[in-house]
Amino acid sequence: MTPDVVIIGAGIIGAACARSLVRAGLRVTVLDRNAAASGTSASGEGNLLVSDKGPGEELRLAQYASSLWPDTVAELRRELGADFPSLEYERKGGLVVATTPAGRDPLLAFAESQRGAGVDARVLTVKQALRLEPDLNPAITAAIHYPEDAQVQPVAATEALLASARLGGADVRVGVTVTGGIRAADGALVGVRTSAGDFSAGAVLNAAGPWSGEVSRSLDASLPVRPRRGVVLVTTRMPHRIFHKVYDADYVGAVGSGEAELQTSSVVESTAAGTVLIGSSREQVGFDNRLRVSVLEELAVKALRLFPFLAGASVMRSYGGFRPYMPDHLPVIGPDHRVPGLWHATGHEGAGIGLSLATAELIAAQLTGGVPAVDPASFLLTRPSLAALVPEVA
Ligand SMILES: Cc1cc2nc3c(=O)[nH]c(=O)nc-3n(C[C@H](O)[C@H](O)[C@H](O)COP(=O)(O)OP(=O)(O)OC[C@H]3O[C@@H](n4cnc5c(N)ncnc54)[C@H](O)[C@@H]3O)c2cc1C
Repeated sequence: MTPDVVIIGAGIIGAACARSLVRAGLRVTVLDRNAAASGTSASGEGNLLVSDKGPGEELRLAQYASSLWPDTVAELRRELGADFPSLEYERKGGLVVATTPAGRDPLLAFAESQRGAGVDARVLTVKQALRLEPDLNPAITAAIHYPEDAQVQPVAATEALLASARLGGADVRVGVTVTGGIRAADGALVGVRTSAGDFSAGAVLNAAGPWSGEVSRSLDASLPVRPRRGVVLVTTRMPHRIFHKVYDADYVGAVGSGEAELQTSSVVESTAAGTVLIGSSREQVGFDNRLRVSVLEELAVKALRLFPFLAGASVMRSYGGFRPYMPDHLPVIGPDHRVPGLWHATGHEGAGIGLSLATAELIAAQLTGGVPAVDPASFLLTRPSLAALVPEVA
């Protein structure tokens, strides 16, 4: 039977959308050219942050996502059973610090603006911050505690969302590359051409992460998603000495920046397994994944400014991936007004793990004529900030 929706991409966005659409009563097929959870969703960290977002549309989406995670994790556990690998979901909270006198006031002002938007952002004294993180460098100049920040294991989360979608009837096909679209006489997209033959569908959802730009082009609809490279250092396992997501306030500037050249800012956290993740860099170098030791060095130096004890830690490995970057720093979640039948759920840059559940609910509501919990207008391709980047004629 023809599915209602074919989803291109089995990363966390495609997986979350598959689950939400199946739960909304739609028939869904998911296609991925590689294995599920093998793209960017397997090469980042699993921070679910409100702390790095200033007041506005993305923060509203993150707050909505943050409200969905606890119940979804519990539901997945019930659906999949205790034998399914843990999602390692933990609302451990974030601690954002300024490391220079000049960084103090901007961080305090940022937190103040977030409080106005309903974020729980608590100003701490250095002494209070050291109570939360005894090994933190006492030379910090300001600290804000964000109890709502959480983390999840992204691959386990993607696999769990897909498994849940499968239980609901979704057909997941891996090793299938989408190469083009099938158009009806009136121009509507009614399916995709793939390496495994044609797939007809009521609608096609582009959830191809950093490859969404090229997938969209293959469907004759340009989309300005570009890869933004990021790498992470991983230490060997050690007894837990870092209890929150701790990051330098520089991170917020790096996230919001559109600069193509290298930017690094320290985000340090420990995982359930006992390793410490030190992220992350941002640079626009296309899909070039060559290792650059200077980038790793810069990350390590900045992490030591936060936690001097890490000087004695051994780095076990590093890994990296490509964030799906949108020039106006907002994801695209909704229909493509130029090609009837084409939908996008992409461009989440460094926040796709966190925003996945909210994105999926917005897609399901829009596709089924429901009322989205967050106004989707700011995430549509028709938003003013994309006017110069999205030609009206696809
Ligand atoms: C270093 C780093 C750190 C990060 N840290 C965080 C974090 O802490 N928190 C957070 O929320 N986010 C983080 N991110 C961002 C996050 O990883 C991404 O936003 C998210 O994984 C995007 O998911 P996706 O499903 O859109 O893309 P992907 O996971 O890349 O999935 C896209 C899928 O599409 C498939 N595909 C592509 N082309 C085709 C085709 N033609 N046919 C069929 N299939 C195709 C690919 O094989 C892939 O599996 C980080 C990213 C990086 C690189």
